Amino acid sequence: MSFTLHGIPVSGGIAIGRAHLITPVALDVAHYKIDANQVVAEVARFDTAVKGVQDELKTLHTSLASSAPGEIGAFIDLHWMILSDPMLSKEPVRIIGERLCNAEWALVQQMDALVAQFDEIQDEYLRERKHDVTQVVERVLKRMVGAQTLMQSALNKKRSQEAEMIVVAHDLSPADMLVFKEHQFAGFVTDVGGPTSHTAIMARSLALPAILALHHARHMIAEDDWLILDGTAGVLIVAPDAAVLNEYLLKRRGVDLERKKLKRIATAPAATLDGVPIELHANIELPEDAKVALANGATGVGLFRTEFLFMNRKTSPDEEEQFEAYRAVVKAMRGQPVTIRTLDIGADKQIDGESAGANSLNPALGLRAIRYCLAEPQIFLVQLRAILRASHYGKVKILLPMIAHAHEVTQALELVSQAKAQLDIAGRGYDDTVEVGGMIEIPAAALSLGLFVKKLGYLSIGTNDLIQYTLAIDRTDDEVSALYDPLHPAVLYLIAHTIRTGHKAGLPVAVCGEMAGEVAMTRLLLGMGLKQFSMHPAQLLSVKQKILQSSLADCEDAVKRMLRTEEPEKLREQLAALNA
Ligand code: PEP
Ligand code: MG
Repeated sequence: MSFTLHGIPVSGGIAIGRAHLITPVALDVAHYKIDANQVVAEVARFDTAVKGVQDELKTLHTSLASSAPGEIGAFIDLHWMILSDPMLSKEPVRIIGERLCNAEWALVQQMDALVAQFDEIQDEYLRERKHDVTQVVERVLKRMVGAQTLMQSALNKKRSQEAEMIVVAHDLSPADMLVFKEHQFAGFVTDVGGPTSHTAIMARSLALPAILALHHARHMIAEDDWLILDGTAGVLIVAPDAAVLNEYLLKRRGVDLERKKLKRIATAPAATLDGVPIELHANIELPEDAKVALANGATGVGLFRTEFLFMNRKTSPDEEEQFEAYRAVVKAMRGQPVTIRTLDIGADKQIDGESAGANSLNPALGLRAIRYCLAEPQIFLVQLRAILRASHYGKVKILLPMIAHAHEVTQALELVSQAKAQLDIAGRGYDDTVEVGGMIEIPAAALSLGLFVKKLGYLSIGTNDLIQYTLAIDRTDDEVSALYDPLHPAVLYLIAHTIRTGHKAGLPVAVCGEMAGEVAMTRLLLGMGLKQFSMHPAQLLSVKQKILQSSLADCEDAVKRMLRTEEPEKLREQLAALNA
């Protein structure tokens, strides 16, 4: 029977294919029988994994910066205690021996039993501790199977038919999305997630139609069900009839044709109707994305999210590996500027083996991005040296994420000088004039630009976080995603104020958040005076087309009026008129 589900449209286009269900890590664990003579080895495998995670948690605790909030240490201790309780560390051993099953399966069975007991508890706080149990179990499972292999193996099941498969998952992390880059799926849908979560951003950068927050899709859809995914409308049609299927096949052809037509303007310079040149840069996650950026006419990289180089692996890339990755992008961009953002881990971007606020009660407000780098100067220095060395091969800029305090910039600049001195001693070349800029993505930074404009060479507005922090809504949480409003007067004020103040101080100002890639926002940003846009490559041509059809003078007039308006409805009407 055909039915339709509605979710948050996060990446446009139409995908038609069969469902491939991806289960959460714990459910994805293989279940197999073992012989009685394999029990000792299986138990040893389990014990080694438990001991490994216990050691990992201890190391995490001892490596916590003294400034780290007490809750982080408390959480790590709690996880250590949960794991060390015989219910988790010993009971699976009994299950292995009794049921002659593999260690992963024994652990998942025990986890299910414990979670069921937690569900019975009246006290909400205690009941919620079941999430700690599952998190601890996932750590042990990952150690036994390997984080990447789990996702990879789940995806690899149907490798040959990927192009006709639509992935259906409860949730996908940004690290999972990296694995997607190696696959050719037609699209994906998830039960949870927000429109500017990094998972959504990755979907757009892969030009993969996607819908998030379908709530119960994972349970309502069966493996191999036929699906139509309309990533623009946020509509998923399950088991469509022939007439609907034909209608969407036609629609999909139309979308493909539009994309092909847009390719014609790839090499045309971006300028408004009144002749003002606009820079269109690309946001990338991995070095190979530079090729796609160039193919879509990018005239530089405005945001290289380097944290993706650190994901899905046990150890961080060393200076040499990072240098090679940065140099590869610099060389690929053939003299065009490459803005390399320093490590922005934390919140929804977690890295195996690192502790960037992962256990904090509020990771988006925790030890992340520049805060983490300043707390871990050795990690930061490795990255700064690698970036500086890459600057020897082209035009490189350093971008500091999440700045809020003047002292953060001062300290970061001191570390840049220190990295240069270390390279001098080592006899390594670098561009001594490398500019250091800052991301304006915390309202406090936007409201105290005077602290920063004297110290920095340029500004880049991260609208994703700026909106999250201005409106106090978690960008990954679909329950509040309706409140995520780029047109909120406070947001408009902060963006316009940053562009104006930055320009007045003689600094280039870019926008590199998702707003820069939304065609509906192009004229608004032009009218605010923005001359540099940075977005995922798949969006570059649509935005360029809009710029080519826009008069800057008209945009400026309309935006002046919009900035005097507070009524949400009126603002929307004004924007619609501007875009007409
Ligand atoms: C932003 O916050 O707008 C931004 C560009 O950075 P990220 O999305 O990686 O947090
Ligand atoms: Mg950000």
